[in-house]
Amino acid sequence: MKSSEWRIVVLKLDHRPERDKRLTTHIGLTARAFGASELQTSGLKDPKIVETLEQVCAQWGNQEFRVTTSVQWKRQLKKWKEENGEIIHLTMYGLHVDKVISEIRESPKSKLIVVGGPKVPFEVFKTADYNVAIGHQPHSEVTALSIFLDRLFQGKNLYTKFQDAKLEILPSAHGKQVRESE
Ligand code: SAM
Repeated sequence: MKSSEWRIVVLKLDHRPERDKRLTTHIGLTARAFGASELQTSGLKDPKIVETLEQVCAQWGNQEFRVTTSVQWKRQLKKWKEENGEIIHLTMYGLHVDKVISEIRESPKSKLIVVGGPKVPFEVFKTADYNVAIGHQPHSEVTALSIFLDRLFQGKNLYTKFQDAKLEILPSAHGKQVRESE
């Protein structure tokens, strides 16, 4: 199976609209830009996150990208396994990414990538097929997700272009150049 045939969904646990709006939006932007097809969040419903990410997709492309808030995480982990997908939980307590990334890349299974919050239930560690550490120092969900997806796609995801983009950047050594499609 080619990497383009994986379904990659990012699940952010325990989203709290008041405190996590920026962080969860950044997780969604990272997921969209670097190869996932959906962001799911557990915790409280948050129409604002959905709206913000839909606006980005409408301008910069990838309108197929989905955002679903208030997902029941236990049910989702169970369903993903039943549908023969694998679960990758990013945590500093896991195995170093360098040890497991080739095996994960070679696997044809679709990937649910779980990132936590302050306290991740032990059941997530137990249910995950892989608990993966992006180094063993604490940093953040966005950093962990970015580096994991970069390693998974071996840097190719930095060259993604979306066919449905209304705006496209024309790379420039100085200043900003953006092309708008009619
Ligand atoms: N105690 C956490 C842990 O298990 O990695 C760090 C808490 S951090 C505020 C929130 C989330 O960022 C974690 O649940 C994890 O998904 C991600 N994270 C932070 N540092 C990480 C690391 N070194 N490797 C993988 N994920 C990390």
